[in-house]
Amino acid sequence: TMLRVAIMGLGSYGTRVADAMKDSKKAKLVGVVSGTPSKVKEWQSKYGIPEKNCYNYENFDAIKDNPDIDAVYIITPNGLHHDQTLRVAKAGKHVICEKPMGINAKECREMVEACRKANVKLLVGYRMRLEPNTLEIVRMRKDGELGKIMFFQGLSGFRIGDPTQWRLDKKLAGGGAMMDIGIYAVNGSRYMVGEDPVWVTAQETKTDPVKFKDGVDETIQFQFGFPSGAVASCLSTYSMNNLDRFFLNGEKGFAELHPATGYGPIKGRTHKGELNKPHVTHQTLQMDRMAEIILEGKEPELPLDGEEGLKDLIIIDAIYKAVKSGKKETIEI
Ligand code: NAD
Repeated sequence: TMLRVAIMGLGSYGTRVADAMKDSKKAKLVGVVSGTPSKVKEWQSKYGIPEKNCYNYENFDAIKDNPDIDAVYIITPNGLHHDQTLRVAKAGKHVICEKPMGINAKECREMVEACRKANVKLLVGYRMRLEPNTLEIVRMRKDGELGKIMFFQGLSGFRIGDPTQWRLDKKLAGGGAMMDIGIYAVNGSRYMVGEDPVWVTAQETKTDPVKFKDGVDETIQFQFGFPSGAVASCLSTYSMNNLDRFFLNGEKGFAELHPATGYGPIKGRTHKGELNKPHVTHQTLQMDRMAEIILEGKEPELPLDGEEGLKDLIIIDAIYKAVKSGKKETIEI
């Protein structure tokens, strides 16, 4: 049996996921939630979606009475994820939610709790946690091939265009580059190092306060300390291109991913040579794995559930706090 998925939010990433799901052997797109009737029509004909599986943002609570939908994949602006997840959970359907899961730890805690209560799964679209080159580095690290881990560097950014887009609107985005792209370095630092950070220092710089309004971060550099003594140094930005690189250094070797989080192919290299895992479309792989998690109870090598989404927002809350205080802040996960 296939995981029958409805996509909420028919924007650019939603379209990418829908196209990739065509090749999934375990998940299929069967429904939509959208505020734009013309897009619904277009998706209905493009993906063969029946009228009875089409909803809008006012009536989607009625999905609870639809036995033909198992899960709703929320691919809307960040600031909407929390409320939408609560409503989907209440409708008794599994939730797949895009990153960032919510815009702060409080929201994420409520989302985890709502899904636990409703007895539905909550998974986050952390596709890199399933990517083969990434997992090979994680394997090498676990097997001791890199020795004791000393340092991680995560560079995550791109130059953002249109100043009117929701990504630059604090209410819908929850912040700026950190919420959108810096989160890759936050999340990456945890699976590359293999620990969760316990302290953070952070510095913000803004070259364009008109484009990047109050509460919308343009560039933040941040540093982590881990329980083992390992440290990390990261950059999150909306004003530089060609910035998608992870570097992990241990006492016996190193691992590099560059590009580290783009749609692929991901390129990896270690002290032992190039990594050559074949490219797989991330979103197809993700839907296959998520169907296995939801329908078969399989555990992924790296978890990508609500607890992981929450951890990143606890850390991001601490990063913003450190920017404000200028001090080293404790991270309590
Ligand atoms: P987008 O702007 O292309 O699409 C967002 C969709 O939400 C649009 O169809 C829009 O109509 C709809 N929407 C519903 N309510 C809205 C409202 N009140 N205001 C504005 N739009 C509303 O954005 P996107 O790039 O598809 O991003 C959507 C989500 O997916 C974000 O949370 C983003 O972080 C995430 N994302 C994840 C990845 C990944 O690789 N995992 C990549 C891109 C985006």
